[in-house]
Amino acid sequence: MNFRKKLIAGNWKMNKSGAEAADLVADLVAPLASQTEVDVLICPPFTALETVSRKLEGSSIKLGAQNMHAELSGAYTGEISAPMLRDLFVTYVILGHSERRQLFGETDAVVNTKVLAALKNELRPILCVGETLAEREAGDTLRVVQTQVEAGLAGVYAEHAASVTIAYEPVWAIGTGKVATAEQAQEVHAFIRSLLVTRFDDTIARKIRLLYGGSMKPANAPELLTQQDIDGGLIGGASLEARSFLELIEAAA
Ligand code: PEP
Repeated sequence: MNFRKKLIAGNWKMNKSGAEAADLVADLVAPLASQTEVDVLICPPFTALETVSRKLEGSSIKLGAQNMHAELSGAYTGEISAPMLRDLFVTYVILGHSERRQLFGETDAVVNTKVLAALKNELRPILCVGETLAEREAGDTLRVVQTQVEAGLAGVYAEHAASVTIAYEPVWAIGTGKVATAEQAQEVHAFIRSLLVTRFDDTIARKIRLLYGGSMKPANAPELLTQQDIDGGLIGGASLEARSFLELIEAAA
């Protein structure tokens, strides 16, 4: 039996002006006012965080960021720190998204420093892991995922582990319309869960939520979300429009 509350998280990436973000939040807040079965999180771009934060006052929808720097302050032009996010009532932060790894050169070591900094500053990290198409075709999926999970969680204390969420996002499925089958996703999720048992223990491993990400849509969500080790979704494209995001939340309930 799976007792973890599902989490549906929207990653808006580099989309939405402040005004557009406010409109989208307004379209989510009212329909979700009495929804308690699923945890809902939205991760707007930095520039819309303050606007969205104000609009979410009194709502159960949680606010997340898409990245942060590991240092608290200093000469890091263009970067944002954990205390700055906390200041805006951000509670989650996506770390190590494959776009950050591929386009901005984030290594496992960099991602790990961010995970540790997030936990130290009472933010809940969503650690993203996943293989490329070439890695899957070479039969390397589990090895790649194991390296990313172990490196990403290096130095995380057991008492903080339940604040971590891991998102399995096969790179070949992100923004491509190619979704992993429920069996492919469940296989990797069960493997990640087994890594967590080894790294922490069975009780902690059962508390950590594992999200699937990669072209999740209302049509494919029900099958994915009923897998034993899939505890929700990290959603890109389908989170940019209220109707599809609400349908995904409905599918998780
Ligand atoms: C993502 O960016 O985390 C993602 C899963 O995107 P999409 O849903 O668009 O594939």
